[in-house]
Amino acid sequence: MKDCLFCKIIGGEIPSNKVYEDDMVYAFYDIEPQAPEHILIIPKKHFESIMDVTGKDFEYVDKMMQAAQKLAKEKGFEKDGFRLVFNTGRDGGQTVAHLHMHLLGGRSLQWPPG
Ligand code: AMP
Ligand code: ZN
Repeated sequence: MKDCLFCKIIGGEIPSNKVYEDDMVYAFYDIEPQAPEHILIIPKKHFESIMDVTGKDFEYVDKMMQAAQKLAKEKGFEKDGFRLVFNTGRDGGQTVAHLHMHLLGGRSLQWPPG
């Protein structure tokens, strides 16, 4: 989608530090890390949020989860754990309107969130 930051990252128009890519998913390091490892996993198709995904397109969400599991294994988070987050809409704290999942790991994380 034109004028979408994450679509531009997928297209290579804006540089990113890529950690994983397949035909449906792209993953890269967050520019403002909130944990020692902070990765964003995004679908290659533009959806504003999880609320805009329907029907067969849920395959993108499936692939995002598979990428998260693979990256968590690679990063060695299986034993101590990690967190997956979809901030959604204003109250959810979403700042970029292209569906994305945060993978946070490498330290003990607090709960509940602020
Ligand atoms: P959210 O607040 O859930 O919408 O998450 C958006 C995330 O995108 C934030 O954690 C930002 O730090 C991150 N972000 C914004 N711009 C970039 C960028 N150019 N490269 C990498 N991460 C970014
Ligand atoms: Zn987009």
